[in-house]
Amino acid sequence: MSNGISRILIIGAGQAGAWAAHTLRQNGFDGTLAVVSNESQVFYERPPLSKQVLAGEMDAASTLLFPADAIEAMNIEWHKPDTAVAIDRERKEVRLASGKVLGYDKLMLTTGSRARVPVKAWAELDGVYTVRTLDDARRLGEELEPGRRMAIIGGGWIGLEVAATARKQGLEVSLFELGERLCARSVGTDVSDFLYRLHSDQGVDVRLSCGAIDLQPAAGGGVELSLAGTPAGRFDAVVVGAGAEIASELGREAGLETTSGLVVDACGRTSDRDIYAAGDVAIHPELGYCIQSWANAQNQAISAALSLLGQETPYADVPWLWSDQYHCNIQILGAAGNGEGTEIRRVCGNDQVSFIRLDADNRLESLIAVNDPKLIKLGKRWIKAGMQLPPEMLADPAQNLMQLKP
Ligand SMILES: Cc1cc2nc3c(=O)[nH]c(=O)nc-3n(C[C@H](O)[C@H](O)[C@H](O)COP(=O)(O)OP(=O)(O)OC[C@H]3O[C@@H](n4cnc5c(N)ncnc54)[C@H](O)[C@@H]3O)c2cc1C
Repeated sequence: MSNGISRILIIGAGQAGAWAAHTLRQNGFDGTLAVVSNESQVFYERPPLSKQVLAGEMDAASTLLFPADAIEAMNIEWHKPDTAVAIDRERKEVRLASGKVLGYDKLMLTTGSRARVPVKAWAELDGVYTVRTLDDARRLGEELEPGRRMAIIGGGWIGLEVAATARKQGLEVSLFELGERLCARSVGTDVSDFLYRLHSDQGVDVRLSCGAIDLQPAAGGGVELSLAGTPAGRFDAVVVGAGAEIASELGREAGLETTSGLVVDACGRTSDRDIYAAGDVAIHPELGYCIQSWANAQNQAISAALSLLGQETPYADVPWLWSDQYHCNIQILGAAGNGEGTEIRRVCGNDQVSFIRLDADNRLESLIAVNDPKLIKLGKRWIKAGMQLPPEMLADPAQNLMQLKP
């Protein structure tokens, strides 16, 4: 027993659930650790799903977050596949779809998010896919044969990664985006334009402001796609990459404070002191909205698990995520500011370009670097140190920015 806690229950066994369990055991929690997962596959990471797994270059075992024997050694009481359907906060119990009722001293919600399908009927159509789970990636992977026609609905990160993977496998790819530009929710116009050119150059037919999309089964197989009532072609596979829905319903229905996700403090505590949350489902305590990234899921979960054990560990990481598309590793650091600062483009070569945004005091607000991981490392240090930066020097590719080490 640690700190009078004998039973911890984790709901959701993705990246955040896995890191919470690992951290609890590594830090001496020797009571009962129960995990509920509605997937049979547990403790695997999702970034390879739209990249190497989809391309058939990585198998399921390689996506595990920890070696199988390390997971075994965590001595977990598994409830899978099963779904947590209600929390009784008074009794400190969670009811599962199977009818089981599990008690807890402390509860950790790591329920993540799920793929959003804007028209429910699409999910029922043969040939329509989303990419959220290993099974999804395996099923879609079977469609990836040269010469087949794929449509992607949504020009966000996952849609673009699937487009890149499918083009590399020799498919004909069309991408339909309702908005005027790609990844509009997370990057500025300059980066959207870069992504548009990248994909167009690789032969993706990118249609922005595409108009209302409708999908119908095609005679003879596949899916017929129309735009604003006009036929736009038959596709062998349609991938819906229309963003994610935060899986906050379990906490919300139990009365926990919820905005776009579950509201937590810097230590991962929700509005109930015995319930913690981390990962996609929880807001970032400083930014006030959910960050859907691998690093956030891992580090927020570690901080919440340590705090739950009494080792208060505030989480305040600057958002960071990456995306791999064709020959480009794209890393995104920081969050969009209020638009009052300076935008700088640093071009070091055709395939090495960075988009730097400084605030009104010339401090780094966000950095999007294509094929420049060193600059991202440096950017993390600039943000941490709150360093003021010289805009002209950042824009000049002849200048070695390592001189600006804090
Ligand atoms: C295809 C894909 C590619 C990505 N690529 C990148 C990338 O390149 N870089 C990057 O930084 N991030 C990437 N991400 C984002 C990153 O993987 C997620 O932010 C991360 O997986 C979030 O982890 P999580 O544990 O919070 O949630 P999840 O991974 O969603 O795990 C939550 C788990 O809880 C389960 N669950 C939900 N509700 C219940 C319930 N009531 N009962 C039981 N179980 C439940 C879910 O089914 C799921 O298994 C990618 C995501 C996807 C889908």
